[in-house]
Parts: sequence; C-alpha cells; structure tokens
Amino acid sequence: MIIVLEHLIHTQEKNDIKNFLERKGFKVKEIIGEQETIFGAVGMVSIDPREVEILPGVKRVIPISSPYKLASREFQKEDTVITVGPIKIGGSRLVVIAGPCAIESRDHIDFMAAMLRETGAVILRGGAYKPRTSPYAFQGLGEEGLQYLKEAGEKYGMPTVSEIVSPEHAALMKDYIDIFQIGTRNMQNFELLKKVGSLQKPVLLKRGFASTIQELLMSAEYLLAHGADNIILCERGIRTFETATRNTLDLSAIPVVKKLSHLPIIVDPSHATGIREKVPPMALAAVAAGAHGITVEVHSDPEKALSDGPQALYPEQFEKLMRDIEALAPVLQKEIARLPVEDETKGLTNKTAGITLAIKKPAVAFQGERGSFSEKAIQLYFHDEVFPLARQEFRDVFNSVLEGSAYYGMIPLENSLAGSIHQNYDLLLEFPDIKIIGEKKIRIVHNLIGIKGAALKDIKRVYSHPQGLAQCARFLEGHPQWEKISYYDTAGSVTHVAEVGKKENAAIASAEAAAINNLEILKESIETNPQNYTRFVVIVRDDHSDIPQPNKASLVFATLDKPGALYDALKILADFSLNMTKLESRPIPGKPWEYMFYVDIQLPEDLSVFDNALKKLKLHSEELRILGSYRV
Ligand code: PEP
Ligand code: MN
Repeated sequence: MIIVLEHLIHTQEKNDIKNFLERKGFKVKEIIGEQETIFGAVGMVSIDPREVEILPGVKRVIPISSPYKLASREFQKEDTVITVGPIKIGGSRLVVIAGPCAIESRDHIDFMAAMLRETGAVILRGGAYKPRTSPYAFQGLGEEGLQYLKEAGEKYGMPTVSEIVSPEHAALMKDYIDIFQIGTRNMQNFELLKKVGSLQKPVLLKRGFASTIQELLMSAEYLLAHGADNIILCERGIRTFETATRNTLDLSAIPVVKKLSHLPIIVDPSHATGIREKVPPMALAAVAAGAHGITVEVHSDPEKALSDGPQALYPEQFEKLMRDIEALAPVLQKEIARLPVEDETKGLTNKTAGITLAIKKPAVAFQGERGSFSEKAIQLYFHDEVFPLARQEFRDVFNSVLEGSAYYGMIPLENSLAGSIHQNYDLLLEFPDIKIIGEKKIRIVHNLIGIKGAALKDIKRVYSHPQGLAQCARFLEGHPQWEKISYYDTAGSVTHVAEVGKKENAAIASAEAAAINNLEILKESIETNPQNYTRFVVIVRDDHSDIPQPNKASLVFATLDKPGALYDALKILADFSLNMTKLESRPIPGKPWEYMFYVDIQLPEDLSVFDNALKKLKLHSEELRILGSYRV
C-alpha cells in the first residue's frame, strides 16, 4: 500500500501515521520523491485502506497491485539512481563493469584492473567464491582473492563487485567489496537474500536461469524488504531449448523490467552467450535496448583462464567494444559513466590521447581551436592558472570533464543576438553528472584576418563559422564579389588561411586567433552590431560542484499539461521573492508542441528560501533539473 502524504505535513503527524502502520504489523519505508513524499507499507496484514485514509496528514492511499511492492514502479515513479563511490548507476547513465570471471592472483587482478580502467570500465568484477557446476573445477581463492580485489580496486579507484554464495560469508565479505553479487543459481536462495539485504550495501542481483521476470522482481523485493535500497538487476540469459549459445539472452526483459520497476537493469552478455565472439554484438544490443549498463568478462590470456575462458573477451576486443559503445551512447542520449582521474583535484596531470602530459595546471576543455572565443573566455575567467585543452565537439568537452582529462569545461550557452545554444543545454540535460559552477560574458569582436602584406583589394574568399559570417553581414554586403565559405570554427578558419598562405584568402575571427597564427588584422571590429555578447559557463563533475555561497542558479523545467501551469510555476518564484534573470521556452525534442523552460535565478543570501521554492516547484512541474548553482 502506498500512502501519499500531504505536502505540508507536520513531523508529528508523520510519526503518528508511521507508528499506526507499524502497530498494525507493516514495515514502513519513507520515500521523498521529486513529486511527493510517500510511505510504502508492506506486510502480511490486511487492513481497510479507509482506516489509513482518515489519518491526519494522509492525502490518499493507493493499493499496489503487483506482488512485489517496494520494487514496483507504482511504488516509485522515478528511476532509482545508485551511488557507488564516484559512480552513479541508473537513469540515463551507462555503466560498464568488467573483469575476469575469477580472481586468479594478486598480479593478475592488478594487471586487469589497470588495463580495464584505462579502457573505460568503471567497476571491477571478479569472483572469489565460484559456484561451479563441477565440484572438481576451480572454486575460487576465497578471502585471499577478496583481499587482492580490494587492493586492485583501491589502487585504481574502481569500486568492486564479487559474488556471495553463502550467508555465512556475508560478515567477512562486506568490508572487502562495494557491491554484493547474487548469482543466477542463488537468485531464489531466500536465506541468502535476507542476509545480504540486511547488510544495506548495493547488490547486483542476477536473474535465475530458469526464473521469470516476476520471480526476479520478487527476489529484489526480498532484498528491499530486508533493508537493501540499492539493487541493480541483471539479465544474464535463461535456459531454453536452444543449444547454440550457453543460454538465451532475453533482451526483452530490459523494457519489461523498466516498465514494471524503478530499479536499474544491466545485462551480462558473457554468461548469456558463453562464447566470446557473441559477446560484443549482444552487449551493443543490450545498450540499444535501454540497459543501464553491462557486465562483461575480460581476461588477459583467456586460454589460460581458470574459469569461463571461452567467453572472456581479449583486451583488444574489449577496447573495440568500448569504442562502439562510445559511438552508440549519444544516439541513445546516454551518458557513459566515467571514473575521475586520481589526482584530478590537484589538476597536476592532463591525459590527452593516451599521453600523460606533466602540466602543473588543471586543464579546461573547450570546443574549437586555439584562439577561439571559448579560449578567450577561459583566459578571462581563469587568467593564466589553467591549461586550455582544445576539443572538436561540444560533446567531447563534456566527456573530457566527466572522465577527468579536463577538470573544467568552458561552453557557450547564449549569445545576445542569436539566443540560446540549445545543443549545450541539451548536453547539460544529457549529462546529469555535469554541473555549471561559473560564468563569463564576453564581447564578441570580429576581425577580417589575412596573411601578412595582404590588402582588402586582394581578397577573393572569406572563411568563417556561419555565425561569424552572419554577424558580419553588413560589412560583407559591401564586398559582394567575395565568396563566403562556411567553416566549422572561427579560429579554425584562421588556421586554414594561414596554412594555404594566399593573399586572396581571409577569415573572420578573434584578434587572438590572428596573433596565434601570425596573421594580420586587415579590418578590426566588422560585426554588424557592437552589442554582441556571448555568455559562457564553466562546467565540472557534479562531485566537484559545491561552491560556498552561490548567487545564481540555472534550471530547466517542463510544466504539467494543464491550464495555468506556467503561471503556477512562476508564481512560486514570485511568492518566494526570487528574481528571474532569464526565462526562455523551447520545444521538447521528440515531443511536438510540448515545451520546456530555461530559467536563471538570482539566489538570496539565505539559500533555504531557494530550496523551499524548489521543493514547491517540483510539485508543479513534470520535470525539473538544476543545471548548477554558482557565483557570478
Ligand atoms: C559470474 O558472474 O561470475 C557468474 C557466475 O554469473 P552467473 O551467476 O550469471 O552464472
Ligand atoms: Mn564467469
């Protein structure tokens, strides 16, 4: 039964409701959701819902129709997001767990962890207790193996997962690993589920090879009912009449589970297929089907593996798989979970294309080439304290920040003439673990740039980003004979002119780009409107985004579909005396005629005012996301 509480319920009323339910024999769990606060009450008792409905502070009572309660979508509408060390699992993130089937030796798991981390895996797997079909097969290194796994995990900053096979091992294992795995053979070992649930650590629960999805969710319910909150479900193939693969991978379980439950679901293509060459296509299919991640077996020398060698990927195969996942993720609007580089906070090293540069400054990623306006924003914001790192696409800037090759990113968010740069707003929504922590407005001054000795009369062709050409339209109209050529980047167009080295070519870009390329400014400030400003923002990983006294916040929200919804939302901000400095609507991609709103708010000294306004705003919006709270 779900008990939805009144929005402004008193703590005393809340306690009274909880005590009442507990007296009746229910286990009660409180969930503070995006939209509302609820109590979930489960137990082997029946009660007339009206008895609860009449209690002060109760808004309504909803019976849960499915046999699993706490695991059901009815109980919790929003996706569960699980935090394990620096990694979040669930929502729009894609997590890659990898490692050998079994921990074989200290050196081996160390070697594997180093290689997997470098390739992009974020959680390290390895069995210490192996439930083998044959009693004569390798049974695992036990506690010694757990010790090696822990050492490797700590050394490379990777959370770890390992299988528990007996309730007796629980106490020993809990200090060695970050996530308990419950294997396919034990999915319905209810004593094990109860014990592991009570430890309140994250659990990776694999589907029994002869179990239905409902049975999987009932097992998750066991864990939840005994205290675990953080459960990751795993589809790993089921037994069918088919013998061409070890099991049959039931990919349809992904959308089915996502509809029925709020828990994240990942896929194990290794145990599903049992054959190395079948693993990458099934891993990609799992990602395409909406899985929140994959867990794969990888071995440095599969022929010599102590267990499951035939299904272990060679390191090169895993690398190729990671590259394919990286190409696929953006299509599905997924963010690939990344580990931060270990010394990121000090910013002492920057890794670029696999080369570690010993630069004693934190890197700031930006889109474009040296001399671009983004780089200028970096200089003005950070002065000389950082190392600007050029990236080709805006998405690359986000990925660099997430994986730690850059500590910060600098991205343009809006231009005073052309409006918002929607691509970057979309990326901020797509990368929930990236937040804004600062901003810099700069004036955009365009110059006509040519090679040394060139004059206006020599020019036949002008290169620039389409925005650059458009913003200098009036000047260009005065030279109708010039050919205007679009280039991907203003600074890049200058490099091009420098490389070709002909007097007849010119570019439109910043003075800095001219200086870097040793070219000459033929005409300064040729932009049509001198009131041309671009607002850049500084982005970081969410875990580094806390700043002491922010005075501005940026949010995005979508209103409920009802009359006056926007008015209601804005009235909340007005009631809390919050000053909006920006309000803009745009269509929600993929949902014709539905709109979301970008809002910037000036924050008051007392931040609790903002927190309370947000709580209320959440109730009045379909979706609400804080892009960052920062200081300007
Ligand atoms: C494993 O992941 O090592 C394993 C034994 O998996 P499963 O329980 O799915 O067979
Ligand atoms: Mn295995």
